[in-house]
Amino acid sequence: MIRPEDRPKSSQSQFPNQFHCRTRHCLRKGCGRAFRACHPASRYCSDECRQEVRRWQNRRYGQRYRKTGKGKAKRSSQARNRRRRVKEQKRTEYTAAAGSVGQHNEQHQGVICARPGCYEYVLPTRHSPGQKYCSKPCSSAMRCVSERERRWRERLKQRNR
Ligand SMILES: [Zn+2]
Ligand SMILES: [Zn+2]
Repeated sequence: MIRPEDRPKSSQSQFPNQFHCRTRHCLRKGCGRAFRACHPASRYCSDECRQEVRRWQNRRYGQRYRKTGKGKAKRSSQARNRRRRVKEQKRTEYTAAAGSVGQHNEQHQGVICARPGCYEYVLPTRHSPGQKYCSKPCSSAMRCVSERERRWRERLKQRNR
C-alpha cells in the first residue's frame, strides 16, 4: 500500500522559479554548437567558448580604448603602474587573439563586429553609420538573443513584484 507521503511530490518538480533546460545554439561565431542551456541567460556551449569570447572582448574593448584615447593617466603613479601591468597582460592576450585571425585586417578602419567571437570589421556606410554588425547572420543572431534576454528580465521583474 502506498501512503500519501511516499508519493513523489509533483508540486516540487513544478517549482515556478525553475528554468527548464532547453537546447540552444552557441552564440559565439564560428561555433554554433547545440547545447543544453540550464540558465535563461546562458549563451555559450562551453567554457572554451566563454574564454574565446573574453579574448574577443579584450580585442574589441582594447580597440575602443585606443580609438577614443580615454583612460589616459590622471591618477597617482601607483595606479599608473598597476594599470600598466594590466595593459601589458591585455596586450599579450590581444596579440594571441589577433594571431589566430589574420593580421591584414589591422589596416582597416572601423571597429570589429559586436557579435561575440566575430572579428570581422564593420565598415560604417553612409546609410547606416551606427552599424554594429558585420553581416545579417550576426545581427539577427544578436537580435534573437537580446530579445530572449529582454523577455527573461521582464518576467524576472514581474516575479519580484
Ligand atoms: Zn560554443
Ligand atoms: Zn560579425
